[in-house]
Amino acid sequence: MSRRPIIAGNWKMNLTVSEALELGAEIRNRCGRFRDVDVVLAPTGLAVYPLARRLEDSSIHVAAQNCHWADKGAYTGELAPPHLAAAGCTYVVVGHSERRQFFGETDDGVAKKARALHDHGLRPILCVGETLDIRDAGGHLGHVTRQTAAAVELLSSDELADTVIAYEPVWAIGTGRTATPEQAQEVHRAIRQELTRIAGAEIADRVRIQYGGSVKPANVRALMAQPDIDGALVGGASLKADSFAQIVAFREELDS
Ligand code: PEP
Repeated sequence: MSRRPIIAGNWKMNLTVSEALELGAEIRNRCGRFRDVDVVLAPTGLAVYPLARRLEDSSIHVAAQNCHWADKGAYTGELAPPHLAAAGCTYVVVGHSERRQFFGETDDGVAKKARALHDHGLRPILCVGETLDIRDAGGHLGHVTRQTAAAVELLSSDELADTVIAYEPVWAIGTGRTATPEQAQEVHRAIRQELTRIAGAEIADRVRIQYGGSVKPANVRALMAQPDIDGALVGGASLKADSFAQIVAFREELDS
C-alpha cells in the first residue's frame, strides 16, 4: 500500500503572528512544488486563523497544536474543534508529549479529543512515545501500542484510517538525539500491527504514521526509507524555511 507522505512542522510556542505569516509564506514559496507530499504547519493558536487565510490558495494545511473535546463552553483558555474548523484548520496535534508532561494530558483526554475532531471533519495527529526509562527497561513497544490503542478507542474504522499517528520517543524530542531508522521502524511496525489487531489490515495499511524527534535534513531520508514510516513531525527544524523545505524535499533527494 502506498501512503501519501505527510510532513508537519510543530512551531510550538514560538513566533508572533507576523513572524508566523512570514515563515508560512517562505515555506509556501519553497514547498509549493512538492505536490506528492502533504505539508502541514502548526503555529500557535493565535496564528491558526491568519495563517490559514494566508495559505488558503496553497496546498499547505494548517494545524492547531491542541484543542478541547467540547464544542463550546466554560473552559477558559481552550480552543474548540468547531472553531478551529471554521478558522481553516484541517489537522490538530493531540497528546504531544509536552502536553502530557506539562499539562496533564491523559490517554482518556486524547481519545475524547480525537473523537471530537472527527465529529468536525478535522484530522487528529495523535502523538505517542516512550520516555528513556521505559525504553531502557525494554517496555517501549508495550507502552506505545497501549497509548495507540487508547488514543483511537472511540473512533470508527474509517475515522481511524483518516487519522495520523505520530511516534515521538520523548528522549528524542528537542534533544538532537534521533531514533535510528531501525529503532523507529520497529515501533512503527508494532503500531501498525496494533492497528491491524484493532481494525484489520486494510484499515491499518491506510493509517499514516509519522516519526518525530530531532528530524533534520540529514536524517529524514533514512527514516522515510523505512516501510512503516510515512512522514515526520518536525519541531526545531521547522522553524527555518530552509531546513523544513529540505525535509519536505526528502523524496526528490531519495530518487536522485
Ligand atoms: C516535536 O515538537 O514534536 C518534535 C519532534 O521536536 P524536535 O523536532 O525539535 O525534536
